[in-house]
Amino acid sequence: MANNDRSSSNPAASGTIRPNPGDDAPPGTPGTGEDTCPRCKGTGKLQGQPCENCGGTGMVTKGIAGG
Ligand SMILES: [Zn+2]
Repeated sequence: MANNDRSSSNPAASGTIRPNPGDDAPPGTPGTGEDTCPRCKGTGKLQGQPCENCGGTGMVTKGIAGG
């Protein structure tokens, strides 16, 4: 019964996901919502490269109302 060999891929493990630079808060934070990235206008790209502000998603998480 070796049940302690959990060594690998869990991308949702705490600390793995971090918000993009343009995010006000991590996804799913109460009082926030997705908005179009102001830098790439929602395209996810800037001059042919992935937008750093939104991580290439075209969306950023913004606070909606003082949550
Ligand atoms: Zn962007």
